[in-house]
Amino acid sequence: MSKEKNRREALVYHAKPQPGKIKVVPTKPYATQRDLALAYSPGVAQPCLEIAKNKEEVYKYTAKGNVVAVISNGTAVLGLGNIGPEAAKPVMEGKSLLFKIFADIDGIDIELDTEDVDKFVETVKTIAPTFGGINLEDIKAPEAFEIERRLKEELDIPVMHDDQHGTAIISAAALLNALELIGKKMEDINIVVSGAGAAAISCTRLYQAFGAKREHIAMLDSKGVIRSDRENLSQQKAEFATDRDISTLEDAMKDADVFIGLSMADIVTPEMLLLMAKDPVVFAMANPNPEIEYGLACKTREDIIMATGRSDHPNQVNNVLGFPFIFRGALDVRATKINEEMKMAAVRALADLTKEPVPEQVNITYDTTRLTFGKNYIIPKPFDPRLIAKIPPAVAKAAMESGVAKAPIQDWKKYEEELLL
Ligand code: NAP
Ligand code: MG
Repeated sequence: MSKEKNRREALVYHAKPQPGKIKVVPTKPYATQRDLALAYSPGVAQPCLEIAKNKEEVYKYTAKGNVVAVISNGTAVLGLGNIGPEAAKPVMEGKSLLFKIFADIDGIDIELDTEDVDKFVETVKTIAPTFGGINLEDIKAPEAFEIERRLKEELDIPVMHDDQHGTAIISAAALLNALELIGKKMEDINIVVSGAGAAAISCTRLYQAFGAKREHIAMLDSKGVIRSDRENLSQQKAEFATDRDISTLEDAMKDADVFIGLSMADIVTPEMLLLMAKDPVVFAMANPNPEIEYGLACKTREDIIMATGRSDHPNQVNNVLGFPFIFRGALDVRATKINEEMKMAAVRALADLTKEPVPEQVNITYDTTRLTFGKNYIIPKPFDPRLIAKIPPAVAKAAMESGVAKAPIQDWKKYEEELLL
């Protein structure tokens, strides 16, 4: 399809038959006078009084526990940059749509007209009583780190900045599986990380939680390898500065086992791929165009395991595999946070699911005859109906075991059945 036709189709999709992608739908009867007397005055006063006595009852009598705010200030929208809060709204509505269709969570998009960290944090704290969870979205680094850190500390509902942790969780699952396929260990691998923004920093931290060694990591930003002798490094970049005497991407790629790209299109050449160790793992995730084009990479190295952010190639690292199910699990046990244990549980559940036989329905959706665990299938596909049954229970269990679940699940079989409804 031509670019122009795509553009027009996308605009009509958003404008017609009514503008936007989400709306509010009542969940209680409203046909009679009696219904309305219950829904609003005077009946509504009863739950108000119960909640006034005990705040936790808000989860019993209102929609709070199933509503997640999708909050952005529009400073780092997709690959479009700082386009402002109004222009970010279609993306946030889109995220709400995904929350709904994948996990039956009501996502409400909220666009804030501020770039000030204190004002952002204060505003979200002020509106937090409305929501069961907060999904932060498309906020530029380094502000995003500070905003998330403070909100996690100061709120008692789950908060997650999806641009950081979503990518980290999905790519970590893919990395565990890729390493299993080639028989290498997280503890031993040399990793090159191209990019030092929100996604790259958070991915690298999570790989460390799974055993990757800081001394085996070389991270690059737009100025080259982040070396410890470089001046004016941000706190996040300094965390990954290397003492090795390397400066360029080419230097870093020599004998590397894994390349993680969260930077820019087309910065990796075939010559660089040839410098990598046997069975190279290359996750070129810059969107929409990867650090090296899929076909070129596969042609250059037959032994490669390759993933990108794109849906037109195998192994798409797509955040939609994470956030709907992670929030589902967190909300269902009324978790006070989304902590490392919960994220790691999501990673393991995604990695394990990939190794189970794929239902025929998924093969049909993706127009293939046999998806099986292997180089071209290292993470599940987004339209896999098993995700909703597998990921939320793993996250919920981890929340309970790590002591952040206010409403622990007792009957797991019943819970898993409810998830499938
Ligand atoms: P970001 O916060 O703006 O970070 C971009 C980083 O790339 C910065 O650290 C920048 O360096 C660095 N960079 C720019 N040019 C470079 C070069 N030539 N070589 C090495 N590094 C370079 O953006 P982000 O949110 O982390 O996202 C980065 C990329 O990953 C985007 O293309 C985004 O679409 C993609 N992404 C994909 C997925 C996915 O596939 N699921 C998820 C998240 C992000 P400076 O710090 O020096 O500016
Ligand atoms: Mg985003």
